[in-house]
Amino acid sequence: MTSAPTFPPASPHASGHVVVIGGGIAGLAAARLLARGGVRVTVLEGSPRVGGKLQVSEVGGLPVDEGAEAMLARRPEALDLVRELGHGDDLVNPGTTSSAILSHGALRRLPSGQVMGVPSDLRALASAQVLSPAGLARVPLDLVLPETRRGADVSVADFIGARMGREVVDRLVEPLLGGVYAGRAERLSFEATLPAVATAARGHRSLINAVRGIRAAAPADPGPVFATLPGGLGTLPHLVAADVEAAGGAVRTGATVRELRRTPDGWRLTVGSARDPERVDADAVVVAVPAAPAARLLSEEVPAAARELARIDYASMAIVTLVYPATAFPRLPRGSGYLVPAVEGRDVKAVTFSSVKWPHLRDRAPELLAVRCSIGRYGEEHALQRSDEELTAAAMTELAVTARVAELPVETRVTRWGGGLPQYDVGHADRVARVRAAVAAQPGLAVAGAAYDGLGIPACVASARAAATRVLDHLGGRGELRHGSDGEARREAGG
Ligand SMILES: Cc1cc2nc3c(=O)[nH]c(=O)nc-3n(C[C@H](O)[C@H](O)[C@H](O)COP(=O)(O)OP(=O)(O)OC[C@H]3O[C@@H](n4cnc5c(N)ncnc54)[C@H](O)[C@@H]3O)c2cc1C
Repeated sequence: MTSAPTFPPASPHASGHVVVIGGGIAGLAAARLLARGGVRVTVLEGSPRVGGKLQVSEVGGLPVDEGAEAMLARRPEALDLVRELGHGDDLVNPGTTSSAILSHGALRRLPSGQVMGVPSDLRALASAQVLSPAGLARVPLDLVLPETRRGADVSVADFIGARMGREVVDRLVEPLLGGVYAGRAERLSFEATLPAVATAARGHRSLINAVRGIRAAAPADPGPVFATLPGGLGTLPHLVAADVEAAGGAVRTGATVRELRRTPDGWRLTVGSARDPERVDADAVVVAVPAAPAARLLSEEVPAAARELARIDYASMAIVTLVYPATAFPRLPRGSGYLVPAVEGRDVKAVTFSSVKWPHLRDRAPELLAVRCSIGRYGEEHALQRSDEELTAAAMTELAVTARVAELPVETRVTRWGGGLPQYDVGHADRVARVRAAVAAQPGLAVAGAAYDGLGIPACVASARAAATRVLDHLGGRGELRHGSDGEARREAGG
């Protein structure tokens, strides 16, 4: 156990009832801050369990995450949350972050000097042998090409392809981005998915030099890149939910919100089945669900936001977890896993050797080796239209071909994430700005979650903090703000 919980900077007179729609990490983190800020909070989660994309279960007796498995440790928000919950000392880091990329049929080390696949060290790039000779020869043209003009936004493929050639996109950047978004470089926004590179590229004609600038500015010893909890990251939502309840809040599961309407004083939610609906009144609401349900919920009262949200696409994927006897591997993997570019034409897009990446898993069962294989990219939904057995067979084939695994796993599990990952397409940041502007015009309404400013857990927690602060500010000043009949917020004399 570490430091005592810190509390949000609540508005001095915040009170009232806040409903948080969605019990994923964003909704729960927002609820926790609201409850700690002194308001009555109810989380309404539609599914039978909290956590959303954070979920853990045992395979072969090991707790292996079904969804997210690693928190970025270079942003503070998620680790701060764990510390505030009193579990800072439990955090564990990867034993290795060295990972590989499958290129031209063989595993190659990721070249050093790259940032999200964008290379800066040409010698390291050459020795990594990820690119063909022609692809490699194209990269240094970036140093002499005139500036690549771009407007407000551009796709990852268009910008990086113009600077460094298509192979860098196909064999380095897209697979690395694919690990986050399961998306395609032709559609993904350069500004929204590679913000550090996009910002640096504004200050340099050459992209190589821009990435060199990022690397030079990075601290010499930045510490571990990732962290998790020994029982799996899927335990985190339960810790947060318990903290919400300890602070007097309520967390309800199996409570799908179907409608959100404004009332003269706040909001009314319709919860549950159409046949037996329940009405819940709230002074303020945080909508912390993916874009499609958020669009449906906001369609009546904030149609401008709903229209924008409805246009955010999602990628579907499946995680196949296989636990093998360690002896099944003729050579124990030394890296944390590998990525497979779409151009390789394989079913599996990424492999994580969980027992190598996370020493706590290996220590728990040294005789076993847990592996997670991801299948499915944006636009490849057909790859998922197969039975669990077929997906497991595809994962086993991948491991047989690449790691020469010759034995059967002791246990397997298939987890499907239909619409699991939002696609930050070109124009995403502007779209989010329009959503936020429309939501900001509604007193006592906030949005949070992966659809907006980052889908990693730290970004989701940051969006929760911003939503909770907005709601607490609203409730602190309430009495002065009333909804007008035209839907605009009005300041009434004497409150
Ligand atoms: C397979 C996979 C692996 C990932 N790996 C990582 C990783 O290693 N590291 C990382 O940082 N991120 C990772 N991510 C991304 C990250 O996990 C998610 O972006 C994040 O957890 C989303 O949190 P959220 O609270 O915004 O949404 P969600 O987790 O989607 O939660 C939203 C909740 O709202 C509920 N809901 C929806 N509609 C309604 C309604 N009408 N009424 C009530 N409830 C409703 C849903 O049931 C759900 O529980 C991964 C994602 C996936 C799918």
